[in-house]
Amino acid sequence: MIYTDLCIIGAGPVGLFAVFEAGLLKMRCHVMDVLPQIGGQLSEIYPKKPIYDIPGYPVVLAQELVDNLAKQIAPFNPTFTLGERVEKIERQEDGAFILETNEGTQCHAKAVVIAGGLGCFEPRKPALENLDTYEGKGIDYMVRNPEKYTGKKVVVAGGGDSALDWVIYLAELTEELTLVHRGSSFRGAPDSADKVMKLAEEGKLNLKLNSEVTALNGNGVLKECLITNKEGKIELVASDYFIPLFGLSPKLGPIADWKLNLDRNAITVNVEDYATNVEGVYAIGDINQYPGKLKLILSGFHEAALMAQSAYRVVNGGKKASLKYTTVNGIQSF
Ligand SMILES: Cc1cc2nc3c(=O)[nH]c(=O)nc-3n(C[C@H](O)[C@H](O)[C@H](O)COP(=O)(O)OP(=O)(O)OC[C@H]3O[C@@H](n4cnc5c(N)ncnc54)[C@H](O)[C@@H]3O)c2cc1C
Repeated sequence: MIYTDLCIIGAGPVGLFAVFEAGLLKMRCHVMDVLPQIGGQLSEIYPKKPIYDIPGYPVVLAQELVDNLAKQIAPFNPTFTLGERVEKIERQEDGAFILETNEGTQCHAKAVVIAGGLGCFEPRKPALENLDTYEGKGIDYMVRNPEKYTGKKVVVAGGGDSALDWVIYLAELTEELTLVHRGSSFRGAPDSADKVMKLAEEGKLNLKLNSEVTALNGNGVLKECLITNKEGKIELVASDYFIPLFGLSPKLGPIADWKLNLDRNAITVNVEDYATNVEGVYAIGDINQYPGKLKLILSGFHEAALMAQSAYRVVNGGKKASLKYTTVNGIQSF
């Protein structure tokens, strides 16, 4: 059993910053995430994308922000359980909670902070017959390590930001790159769409509009994608990798069963401190919902600060936290 003051579900940017705000108030944190690494959507979906709306950073790559958050919270020695999904939260007679993961790891916490973002998100998969045969053997639903595609034949499918951004990035690395999109225009940012069209004009990208990948061939590992256009013309494209980027379907997962008030797949909270309807359980970041909510990283950071002040009272028998500036003595004095 892990004992802590706050158990934070979700190691996205907001869960990580909650460790900092809690640390300033001398609360110990244990963070749990179903993903094998910290960073939430930033590390999982768009690690190499630049972010422009983090105060104090004119521009920062998503993974760089995560790395900096990890540095910022290190002095507070948070502990982590990664690669495990929190399945259960049970309130104890003394008001504390015991959380349990799908692997049976248990955490005893005086308060719980749900920073679960979109929930346990899963990629939307194309409807192809033998898809599971090639999962991990040529099919990737997310680009985790772009370098692995160096010198390879890659087929990307999709027409949103993710597909466009990765095609622009991968064009420099791959031996042969194909983008398959079932529409005739892209949903992603116009600037990215222009860059993709230019790559196609320069011969650095095989662009297949009005087309879909309709079958996969190989012998244990992926060898080729069968691409069919709207006129029914079929083409076989040699492929080491097929990367369908059709977005993620957010699945609230076990959070839906925790008797919390929900509104459109998000947890409704009190805007004073982001408390849920269950005393001692807070929800911050993309997972919560309130009038005027903006699903932005900076909103989650603000919510983490207010949550920590309130959670302090829960953890310390009703005692009120006093606000101190970090500029006075640095963080070590907190
Ligand atoms: C392509 C893209 C670009 C974006 N660009 C910007 C931008 O420029 N600026 C901006 O402010 N925002 C941007 N966003 C939004 C931003 O990423 C989110 O607002 C932010 O990630 C929310 O952080 P979070 O910590 O609340 O949740 P997340 O980052 O979603 O992290 C939540 C974590 O909780 C985990 N989790 C959920 N349920 C469980 C469970 N039961 N057990 C264990 N773990 C669980 C998940 O695995 C996940 O790691 C962008 C989003 C996308 C998709």
